[in-house]
Amino acid sequence: MENQLRTLLDDVKTGHRMSENEARDLFQVRNRQVWEIAAAADEMREQRVGNTVTYVRNQNINVTNLCVNACGFCGFSKKPGDEGLHPDFNARSYCDVYRWIHEAAPGVHLHASNPMEVAYAAKKSHMSTYEVLTAMKDAGLGSMCGTAAEILVDSVRNKICAQKVSTEEWVRIIREAHAMGIPTTATIMYGHCERDEDRVHHLAILREIQDETHGFTEFVPLSFIHMNTPLFRAGIARAGATGREDLLMVAVARLFLDNFKNIQVSWVKEGIKMAQLGLIAGANDLGGTMFEESISKGAGAVNTDYLDPAEMQRVAEDIGRTLKRRTTLYEMV
Ligand code: SF4
Repeated sequence: MENQLRTLLDDVKTGHRMSENEARDLFQVRNRQVWEIAAAADEMREQRVGNTVTYVRNQNINVTNLCVNACGFCGFSKKPGDEGLHPDFNARSYCDVYRWIHEAAPGVHLHASNPMEVAYAAKKSHMSTYEVLTAMKDAGLGSMCGTAAEILVDSVRNKICAQKVSTEEWVRIIREAHAMGIPTTATIMYGHCERDEDRVHHLAILREIQDETHGFTEFVPLSFIHMNTPLFRAGIARAGATGREDLLMVAVARLFLDNFKNIQVSWVKEGIKMAQLGLIAGANDLGGTMFEESISKGAGAVNTDYLDPAEMQRVAEDIGRTLKRRTTLYEMV
């Protein structure tokens, strides 16, 4: 096994495209060979994007916490009546908000919506998702979030977020956005009730889309925050990913997603110490500074509000790298 692993990692470093079975085997490594996988991924990162660690100045705006869904991993959403928020969002409401922001702050890049919201707006407004995306783009949408992906395997989705778009619909809307020049991020939410095979299948779907569209700006692994979630309370999900899993998620993604430039570590989900280790296991981006964050906090995460670039710099320099500020679309500032 040891030699097999070394051969595989050497092959990948010289251009072999990893198969799903090979990636699954990497996720199952439990001993010191985790470090070998991380080291190979770190080499790939250096080859592909050099030694800069990037970050973006951003603010997450959650226009409402009222949600018609009931995802088992969510500790954020409220139902009508809970806090008396407005239930009727449609395509027009999204576009109005984007237009207001765009007009008030024309220099700000608007990264918003996700395939689920696009599908929802389309349904509420009796429009096609193509029409909704076109209207959002006209209203100022610069790029779209690749969230609501969770795990792109329907048997898992049925357990954790049955009301969200299916895998097929998520993929279709992402392709549609890319085709009309709206780039998106790509995410995975892992560490709940998915199998290694499901994670790998998810990565394979992303790699295939990227081959066709080149529309993904980055891959962002999101470690499941379990504390306040119905899924954990009901015993369906475990208590989140372990440190080994967090490291391997970044490393295997870097090795498997050979057509992605940027891999982000989420300090919001993992904490800054684990995020730093991710930076020497294949990641090259620390994500956003944030100013206020509600989603992970709702699920029970702490220290999610703001990360000072000075602290990011300390973390980057500590591993011999340089911190640089980027835009949402990875142009250096
Ligand atoms: S994860 Fe998003 S879609 Fe699901 S219940 Fe929470 S707010 Fe709604």
